[in-house]
Amino acid sequence: MKTSSNFDYEFGGPIGALGTMIFLPLVTLLLTYWASVGSLEFNHILPAETSCSPDAGFVSMYISKLKDSSVLCPSCAESPVLISCACVIIGWFLFQVLLERILPCEIVLGAPLPDGSGKRLPYRINGHLAFWVTLLVLDIGWPKWTEISDESGIIKQILVFGRAPMTWLYDNYSTLAFVTIILTTMLSAYLYMKSFGKGLLLAVGGNSGNHVYDFFMGRELNPRWGGFDWKEFCELRPGLIGWMILNLAMMSKQYERLGYVTGSMILINIFQGLYVWDALYQERAILTTMDITTDGFGFMLVFGDLAWVPFTYSLQSRYLVDHDPHLQWPVLACIIGVNCFGYLVFRGANGQKDAFRRNPNAAEVSHLTYLQTKRGTKLLTSGWWGMARKINYTGDWIMGLSWCMVCGFESIVPYYYAIYFAILLIHRSIRDDHMCKEKYGDDWDKYKSIVPYRFIPGLI
Ligand code: NDP
Repeated sequence: MKTSSNFDYEFGGPIGALGTMIFLPLVTLLLTYWASVGSLEFNHILPAETSCSPDAGFVSMYISKLKDSSVLCPSCAESPVLISCACVIIGWFLFQVLLERILPCEIVLGAPLPDGSGKRLPYRINGHLAFWVTLLVLDIGWPKWTEISDESGIIKQILVFGRAPMTWLYDNYSTLAFVTIILTTMLSAYLYMKSFGKGLLLAVGGNSGNHVYDFFMGRELNPRWGGFDWKEFCELRPGLIGWMILNLAMMSKQYERLGYVTGSMILINIFQGLYVWDALYQERAILTTMDITTDGFGFMLVFGDLAWVPFTYSLQSRYLVDHDPHLQWPVLACIIGVNCFGYLVFRGANGQKDAFRRNPNAAEVSHLTYLQTKRGTKLLTSGWWGMARKINYTGDWIMGLSWCMVCGFESIVPYYYAIYFAILLIHRSIRDDHMCKEKYGDDWDKYKSIVPYRFIPGLI
């Protein structure tokens, strides 16, 4: 049996996990700030003056500076703003839970559980419908009390429905990110405590015995409240749909300011809106991904899904409100070309594998060659998956690059996504390679000799 001393740690072990848990929330807040100023500026992050005397010691002085910083602790001095933002984030989460619970759904079984029981968990698949209902509610169903005077001049309050005040999200963007970080930490703590309940299936990678590491990785594989699956829900709904809503809010703000919407802003909304829509339209495909089948639901995924995705992935649209690059249509047309190419590779590869995993004899994949493994499953060796072992990641990255390009070429800030995503995908491909080697043994080496390239055929 493995103990915390001989455990197969990832992410640099407990120290790396702790560092990541401190570093990523700070980066999230810094990115929201840099997107607003348009460059990597460090001058105003910590206030020059602090209310705490230097005699109070380094740590309390530092904490006091953090609390006084409008970047690292936005609106900390204004509790009404903090409370409003917390209410909005919690309300948004509950609204998505409500949609998941009440909208018609298809019940789809997940992959067999890794405990060898052969059991498969049922999932409520209605994310695509939730996506459209959310848009409809925000566009025409937002309730608001308004005053009208009747014929006798008496003023009455009536409830009307219309468009949500989206620009509020721009005005409180940093504070919303800050509050979300606090709430995701609380949710991670709850899920960690819950994971010590009896008879729960634990994730192999999040059960080292080291509290910090396991809190980060997530101990329980499929935390549930009855039929409500925390992980699958958080992977796709509040964060992903929230990202698109934040983009729409940035577009509304730009319209409010300029009286029109720029080409770059339209493109970023279409590109990223399509990406979110695609993920929800293909919701069932997530059931066979590493996040669902293998990883526990700890801080890494909770924070990633609910804070990192909406607040750092919407950075390009946030940047564009204040720093539109006024790109000419020929340049925008080239960027559309890059995005379409990336989407073709991404969707082509993911769709092909999904179809093949579902039914290898289906007409669209029956012509493809494959390697029959001793484990029973087959590995594609032609089509997209014969070109490179992670060609789906390459397509995804190319799409991400086009999102950065719509922001022009003057600032590095919007390009954070291409840099971060390259690191994420390289690391993820190494993790998957390691897991596949464990799953398939020698067959994996054989597959790698047939398909030697990882990302770009003939190159890397
Ligand atoms: P993959 O879709 O690449 O799935 C990996 C699994 O596919 C392997 O473990 C293996 O599982 C199976 N597989 C590998 N090679 C083959 C083959 N030749 N034939 C058939 N099956 C094969 O990985 P992810 O789940 O990481 O990513 C899915 C998509 O999500 C990607 O496009 C990625 O870019 C995207 N993504 C986006 C993120 C974002 O933040 N925007 C974050 C993470 C991912 P098995 O054999 O057991 O079926």
